[in-house]
Amino acid sequence: MYNPASSKAEEFINHEEILETLAYAEAHKTDRELIEQILEKAKQRKGLTHREASVLLVCELEDKNQEIYELASQIKKDFYGNRIVMFAPLYLSNYCVNGCVYCPYHAQNKNICRKKLTQEEIKKEVIALQDMGHKRLALEAGEDPVNNPIEYILESIKTIYGIHHKNGAIRRVNVNIAATTVENYRKLKDAGIGTYILFQETYHKESYEVLHPTGPKHNYAYHTEAMDRAMEGGIDDVGLGVLFGLELYRYEFAGLLMHAEHLEAKFGVGPHTISVPRIKRADDIDPSVFDNGINDDIFAKIIACIRISVPYTGMIISTRESKACRERVLKLGVSQISGASRTSVGGYAEEEPEEENSAQFDVSDNRTLDEVVRWLMELGYIPSFCTACYREGRTGDRFMSLCKSGQIQNCCHPNALMTLKEYLEDYATEKTKEIGDALIAKEMEFIPNPKVREIAENYLGCILDGKRDFRF
Ligand code: SAM
Repeated sequence: MYNPASSKAEEFINHEEILETLAYAEAHKTDRELIEQILEKAKQRKGLTHREASVLLVCELEDKNQEIYELASQIKKDFYGNRIVMFAPLYLSNYCVNGCVYCPYHAQNKNICRKKLTQEEIKKEVIALQDMGHKRLALEAGEDPVNNPIEYILESIKTIYGIHHKNGAIRRVNVNIAATTVENYRKLKDAGIGTYILFQETYHKESYEVLHPTGPKHNYAYHTEAMDRAMEGGIDDVGLGVLFGLELYRYEFAGLLMHAEHLEAKFGVGPHTISVPRIKRADDIDPSVFDNGINDDIFAKIIACIRISVPYTGMIISTRESKACRERVLKLGVSQISGASRTSVGGYAEEEPEEENSAQFDVSDNRTLDEVVRWLMELGYIPSFCTACYREGRTGDRFMSLCKSGQIQNCCHPNALMTLKEYLEDYATEKTKEIGDALIAKEMEFIPNPKVREIAENYLGCILDGKRDFRF
């Protein structure tokens, strides 16, 4: 019944296969020989199967766990260097017809303030985001065919790409909207989106149906097969994720990797990103009623194991997590973070009055973008506002081949430095600029190809002269 290349949700995410995987992992959690073999394979940086990864996830040998963390950090460095890509979510509308029991946007919630941004309001939000320095957004909306039809999303994307305020521009719009049709995915692709992101929430079908009791999202197969339809519609950068806390984390972890294996088997390209959200307090949602919450140690282990299992897949962490937690997992594999996020509809241009709460969840990191950028640099990372890949057509397998060719250091690295320079010139505080300029000077040395280094130097000069948007 289990078939990674199948088009049927229950065959590529197969319940029996997951149960057998969990039993196998449990039986081998102290099997030194097997764990060493798996680690040897992981060191070749070609990834692991869901079975192998599940053994590492539950491994109880302390010295081997240390090796897992060290390998995750090493793979992170080898594939992503010290660059961290920055983004912000933009909530367009919290109208929703679904009944997701963990989400305050659920249709039965009469308490939350329902809002939908007009195109004028979107402009104000985007200008506020541009004025912070953001270049990359993740659009968020509830599912509501009447209030948030695909035409509304498409019009909003067009509006966003069309706003050029001072030196600002949103150069990549990722989209996180409910599962939809191939035809709609094609429209999103034609509108120039970057990644299509959809969290599975849980891979456990029975739980899924209980957690999504009403609305179109109740349909497990339709939701689980969404990435296949997105790929059929021409979107080859897709972002997976589960909402940790809903089901047993070991089950979700195996499911997530099976989903990645499925995309690889069927389309020859794995997911572009994986997100690892954990349930947060929200309007009428109390996270403690969900029994499967995971602590920071397990969270870190999951991230390290994902990192070594799918080395070419970016990992995203949002402001659901605190500064301390983000600092810990950045080392272990996270390559993209949000900064200065608002989870309310319309929270950037103007602070939302308390009585008008429209937020999806409470954030744990309330710092400004400047503070996050400075903090990253003080930790030795390069905050990157780069959006070059998809604008250069490097999506799907073409992005993967860039990773595999080892040319990232001649491409992503200078792009990160140039976009950071733009940020420093246009938006940073004096202190951040000082730290950033020193960092750029040091990091330019690490561009291996002298020709690329020379061109990048030249571009940095042009940025000082007021020109923008250079890329390799
Ligand atoms: N409505 C779309 C969908 O169905 O996928 C958009 C998703 S929603 C705006 C973004 C994600 O937030 C959800 O997929 C869910 O995983 C997450 N989320 C919902 N409630 C949450 C909560 N209380 N805490 C943390 N994350 C939550």
